[in-house]
Amino acid sequence: MRIRLDRISDEPFRWEERRRIEPSILERPEIVGLGEITWGGTITNTGTGHLFQGKLEYEQTLTCQRCLAETSGPIQAEVELLLVSDGEEPTEGELELEAEDLDVHYVADEIVDTEPLLFEQLQLNVPMRVLCREACAGLCPHCGIDRNRDSCDCQEPVVDPRWAALRGLRGLEE
Ligand SMILES: [Zn+2]
Ligand SMILES: [Zn+2]
Repeated sequence: MRIRLDRISDEPFRWEERRRIEPSILERPEIVGLGEITWGGTITNTGTGHLFQGKLEYEQTLTCQRCLAETSGPIQAEVELLLVSDGEEPTEGELELEAEDLDVHYVADEIVDTEPLLFEQLQLNVPMRVLCREACAGLCPHCGIDRNRDSCDCQEPVVDPRWAALRGLRGLEE
């Protein structure tokens, strides 16, 4: 949604939208599914700047990085940003808001587009480490079996530490 900032005066502008987003456009391969997203909030004219406050709720499905199983969960997140016109130095009032540790988002032509802000939030909500559960045993590196469900007879190769050191020196370590 594109919102014109110059039309916002005393009353905060409220918006709410429901979105369906194809995970592939987010360029985060861990995201395999996204439920319907409720995304809304307010933009307040503070007299010297614009404060953007948004909230989003949805369900995301990610791939466990150890066993590759899909894992789903609800997400709720909030975002608070200071909107500053592109190419302009923040005004004094905006600097005061900025001093409250708000992130700054630059907008062109006094129009804020909520879509890129939403995409950014969806990307931020993927944790650094995606696991189906803390103790996920992962896949066997030899036969690929899911060690959470089955066991296999693969042995971890036993390497004589002296040999390992020698192979490392020769650059033959696989
Ligand atoms: Zn797992
Ligand atoms: Zn195995």
